[in-house]
Amino acid sequence: MAEVYFSKQIEKIIDKIDFSHLGKNVAIKVHFGEDKCDTYVNPAIVKKVYSKVISLNKKATLVECNVMYKGRRTESISHIEVAKEHGFDFAPIDILDGEKGNEFIEVNVDGFKAKIGKGLEKYDSMIVISHFKGHMMAGYGGAIKNIGMGLGNRAGKLHMHSNIKPSIINSKCKGCGICYNNCDVKAVEVMNKKAKIDPEKCVGCAMCIAVCPERAVHIPWEGSTSAELQEKMAYYCKAVSRIIDNVIYINVLENITSECDCMNTKQKPFMENIGILYSKDIVAIDKASLDLAGEKFSKINSINKLKQLDFAVYFGLGKKEYSLVKV
Ligand code: SF4
Ligand code: SF4
Repeated sequence: MAEVYFSKQIEKIIDKIDFSHLGKNVAIKVHFGEDKCDTYVNPAIVKKVYSKVISLNKKATLVECNVMYKGRRTESISHIEVAKEHGFDFAPIDILDGEKGNEFIEVNVDGFKAKIGKGLEKYDSMIVISHFKGHMMAGYGGAIKNIGMGLGNRAGKLHMHSNIKPSIINSKCKGCGICYNNCDVKAVEVMNKKAKIDPEKCVGCAMCIAVCPERAVHIPWEGSTSAELQEKMAYYCKAVSRIIDNVIYINVLENITSECDCMNTKQKPFMENIGILYSKDIVAIDKASLDLAGEKFSKINSINKLKQLDFAVYFGLGKKEYSLVKV
């Protein structure tokens, strides 16, 4: 049975963390929050963990991948600017999938090819610090989503979200051709000042989504059921574990919102702060988070939030059974 430590104070959690098995080059995976979001994980908590790692003569870097939709976190330079504006200015930041989100390592899991941000292979261990909150497609976002979705590069994220290729919203398209110029496989053509995507040629890299100045490239959210998305997230977690298996998890149950930190808007937390959890087991920490958040949290959407846990168990990533140790 996995141990999950719980406290209201990060200092007490840090005292319980077994840092000894981490390597010398530690990636700290954080979601910096979308531009206008202000309920992302508290940077003061991340800074305390970072400072502890540094004090142990290890190197530590905040890591993340670019997002698939158009915004300031689509490309590395502006992504890092957002991170610093949000208070993550105390440590080096490494956007693992390159300046444009197109650098990845392909990891084969049972024939499923996951695209993980290429820079991850530089690190020998990882601390995953996750803001626990709701999510419109995955039911909730915790540690599984933070690395499953978060460490996929842009094409990987698109792959997780849908099997359908992006399409053009004609009323928004100005026919500028920027998507055409950025499509490596020539799946885009522009005729009569409107772009069109050939789904047969499209490889789902999502670059057209990133570069379109008019936000005219439609992301086919409706093409993926929640269960498929959660299963793919678990596949990606398994793929990440093939690159780094030396990982510890911290879930922060504060500022709990009904939607993800990817929303480019301010959200009001809908329930009280609960505390901070630490575990070496990705499944146990998310299960303990759901249990502590209770019925009020479970009712934020109708999605079966246990699916991603079940898939993660199936892939041998952890156990749902845990003992909660209050410190
Ligand atoms: S980049 Fe956007 S606006 Fe320009 S042609 Fe492509 S879809 Fe249309
Ligand atoms: S997703 Fe990639 S391959 Fe598909 S049309 Fe857009 S740029 Fe081209």
